[in-house]
Amino acid sequence: MVTSPAEVLGLPKPAWVTEDVAMLYDMATKFLEAEIAPRYEEFEKAEIFDRESWRKAGEAGLLCASIPEEYGGSSGTFAHESAIMEAVSHVGVDGFGIALHNSIVAPYILHYGSEEQKKKWLPRMASGELIGAIAMTEPGAGSDLQGVKTSAVRDGNQYRINGSKTFITNGQLANLVVLVTKTDPSKGAKGTSLIVVETDEVEGFERGRNLDKIGLKSNDTSELFFNDVRVPTANLLGSEEGQGFVQLMQQLPQERLQIGATAIAMAERALAVTIDYVKERKAFGKPILDFQNTQFKLAELKTEATIGRVFYNDCVQRHLNGGLDPVTASMAKYWLSELQGKVVDECLQLHGGYGYMNEYPIARMYRDARVQRIYGGTNEIMKLLIARSL
Ligand SMILES: Cc1cc2nc3c(=O)[nH]c(=O)nc-3n(C[C@H](O)[C@H](O)[C@H](O)COP(=O)(O)OP(=O)(O)OC[C@H]3O[C@@H](n4cnc5c(N)ncnc54)[C@H](O)[C@@H]3O)c2cc1C
Repeated sequence: MVTSPAEVLGLPKPAWVTEDVAMLYDMATKFLEAEIAPRYEEFEKAEIFDRESWRKAGEAGLLCASIPEEYGGSSGTFAHESAIMEAVSHVGVDGFGIALHNSIVAPYILHYGSEEQKKKWLPRMASGELIGAIAMTEPGAGSDLQGVKTSAVRDGNQYRINGSKTFITNGQLANLVVLVTKTDPSKGAKGTSLIVVETDEVEGFERGRNLDKIGLKSNDTSELFFNDVRVPTANLLGSEEGQGFVQLMQQLPQERLQIGATAIAMAERALAVTIDYVKERKAFGKPILDFQNTQFKLAELKTEATIGRVFYNDCVQRHLNGGLDPVTASMAKYWLSELQGKVVDECLQLHGGYGYMNEYPIARMYRDARVQRIYGGTNEIMKLLIARSL
């Protein structure tokens, strides 16, 4: 019998998993198993997905689930986004970069875009015609985003953009980039503005190479270069310049919770595949599961994953009620990604040498999990934010 990642902890469904959220999870799982999983190895080798997969995901309703129907979405909530993200991790196709597109990029346009901007971009994001990226990090500005140097200088009814970004998820495929710029460098954080760049429409935009990462191989990550790129001033998000930092801060709780979603879901999958493995694999004439060490390890991991899942569910409920504060969201990002790393590492150990072989799913989880402690604000930065509340 194959253990199901969704049921490995044996917990009752929380209130936020309503009937339609559960149905979406099942639908997403079936879609990913049928359309993405069979080709996943190919994407891992190519180090990039194809656009066709994005379009199919759009047709299946997996893009922009929480965007209102009038803008091409499905009028869901973060609960629906969570169902999709969890399905991605439970099926084991973690490199499919739709979580960032759905739960980070599209919400910037929904929350800060004008009516015209929403109508222009969101329906095309929901269909997969536009693939979204968020470009904050620069070679000289990672944790300290106030150090962003990419400039956007107003020139008539256009902005002239110069600068470079790095480590940008979906960086090779993205054709809609929410770009963090300085419109007034003299004002520090208050001179920061978010500007949308439709990369197919502009000159002076270049992509660097697809960066060679240790994990999440099928997800393209790139440098992006802006050399005198001109976009209409109408591409500014928000009613005036200088709101970028506040907009970023407002969206961070959801972005951090999104990392928590994929963290707990991968931990569940790691447990599920490991439980199956230790029942099958034998040493000294008995299944590995019969050793007390294996039982104790898995008992510890299941307990900690249960604590993590209950905490995550509570965060989702609070977020849906509009009350997830930045400190708790930072706790979720930090603690759940650390938990994910620990569970995956201990599960790999229980696989012995096979755990180090790429053909076993736990090996890929080990590589894919590591970055969760780094991006979305490093876990050290999360602790700084939590410490400020002491
Ligand atoms: C695979 C991947 C995908 C990514 N996707 C995106 C994306 O889509 N968009 C985007 O904008 N960025 C993205 N990033 C960038 C990511 O968010 C940054 O790498 C991260 O914020 C850390 O910045 P940095 O790499 O410059 O590290 P640094 O800021 O140089 O940090 C180096 C070390 O110093 C520590 N440190 C820094 N400041 C402090 C402090 N005050 N106190 C204690 N310790 C500190 C850090 O925790 C870290 O351990 C991605 C990164 C990766 C690896």
